[in-house]
Amino acid sequence: MSSYERDDVYIDGGWRRSAGGVIEVDSAVTGEIIGRIPDGTADDVKAAVAAARAAFPGWSQTPVGVRLDALAQLAKKLDERSDELTRLISTEVGTPWRVSAPVQVDQPRRVLDSYRDLMTDFPLEEQIGQSAVLREPIGVVAAITAWNFPLQQVIGKVGAALVTGCTVVVKPSEVAPLSAFVVADILDEIGLPPGVFNLVSGRGKTVGEELVGHPDVDMVTFTGSTTAGRRIGEVAARTVKRVALELGGKSANVILDDADLARAVKVGVANCFTNTGQVCTAWTRMLVPRKHLGEVEDLVRARLATYTLGDPLDPATTMGPLASAAQRERVREYIRVGIAEGANLIYGGLEEPKDVPAGFFVTPTAFSNVRQDMRIAREEIFGPVLSILPYDTEDEAITMANDSEYGLAGAVWSADSDRAYRVARQIRTGAVDINGSFFNVLAPFGGYKQSGNGRELGHHGLTEFYELKSVQRAPTEA
Ligand code: NAD
Repeated sequence: MSSYERDDVYIDGGWRRSAGGVIEVDSAVTGEIIGRIPDGTADDVKAAVAAARAAFPGWSQTPVGVRLDALAQLAKKLDERSDELTRLISTEVGTPWRVSAPVQVDQPRRVLDSYRDLMTDFPLEEQIGQSAVLREPIGVVAAITAWNFPLQQVIGKVGAALVTGCTVVVKPSEVAPLSAFVVADILDEIGLPPGVFNLVSGRGKTVGEELVGHPDVDMVTFTGSTTAGRRIGEVAARTVKRVALELGGKSANVILDDADLARAVKVGVANCFTNTGQVCTAWTRMLVPRKHLGEVEDLVRARLATYTLGDPLDPATTMGPLASAAQRERVREYIRVGIAEGANLIYGGLEEPKDVPAGFFVTPTAFSNVRQDMRIAREEIFGPVLSILPYDTEDEAITMANDSEYGLAGAVWSADSDRAYRVARQIRTGAVDINGSFFNVLAPFGGYKQSGNGRELGHHGLTEFYELKSVQRAPTEA
């Protein structure tokens, strides 16, 4: 494991020692320490931002072809190291290999490919009357990421910054930081101009807030909890910088009365329990016509019984551990809350899973007859816990789906796809999947309400990294 001992932060084109302490990184699978990274300092942030600021004029003027080439090299090298990255992330986060390889590792590479395609003819100038309206890169970007899809989040943000001509300082999650160091190694090999990419590991309160408050940072792109997002919004407001926030969720899976129940439950359960439920868009509230509640409960129990818990590197494993001891305690506390609130525990619960490694495992759990006012229906648990809520009318289902401080994602199921589309239009979230449709890397990704602001991915995501400038020429000069 010696390669996971990282002593340095990456600033101004080189690795340098941080004066801060050390953060230990656990294996989700065994709980053992598998790596160490620097606990960066305010001085590291200052140096990284200064380097990024100095590099910005040159990088922003670099021909787009050069930037596209850098992204192509990054994608190729990620591909070459995909097994190593999959093993690393499966160990750090606990994602089973069969999910980790396509989603944790291959999807980021596909995002880079999509940015390259989009930038090839991205509209950077339009004429509006006497004005030339120009898109110019916003400047120095701070990218702060969560641990559940660590590479996806770093690549989504760094790729967008680099290709649009911005320079970037990344602060990866301290819970799953190791793949970000591999990205830094790759970008170092590629030989970007010094200061274009910088990495400072560390804690949110220190490195994160120092970045967010720094007057020379023009934009913060953040993925994480709504609690941290609120704080980032406050700190960033002091220097009036752009903030793009990808935050939490409590998404509703609305199963209408004419839906194919077996399929809706199968896909709904798979969605809720992917990555041991540590997915911001997870459909954690299953809204079910009251007359079908018993049938749905049976279907959910049968699906949950198919999960094989174990080492994520074992091909037979379909559910791994949670990412950290803290996350396991949080999830267990919500299971206690659900029981205390009087929800009907139909599967799983507090009993420790058997025959699993010593890491942060919990049993997949489902509650039925959950009421909208219960905490397990309102708060993001971020673990393998499903809440099933009965409803009586379609209007009531829509009201319940929207009765949330979050607005990230959701689903609708119906035999009539026009009906499903009509319902989807009334759900106030950034995304809705109808009848099991799936994620599109070219579509904008982000939340309504307290799930965030701004959008990531695709054309809409890239526009966040630009300022608009209107240049008016006098009529005689036009
Ligand atoms: P978190 O908010 O605890 O931490 C996320 C990142 O923010 C970490 O790098 C952390 O060090 C940093 N941070 C924390 N406080 C900060 C502060 N005051 N200033 C600056 N940085 C700070 O979240 P987490 O536990 O790592 O991730 C889980 C959360 O992320 C869940 O709520 C989940 O829904 C959300 N998430 C959202 C999306 C999305 O795209 N909407 C995707 C994945 C995860």
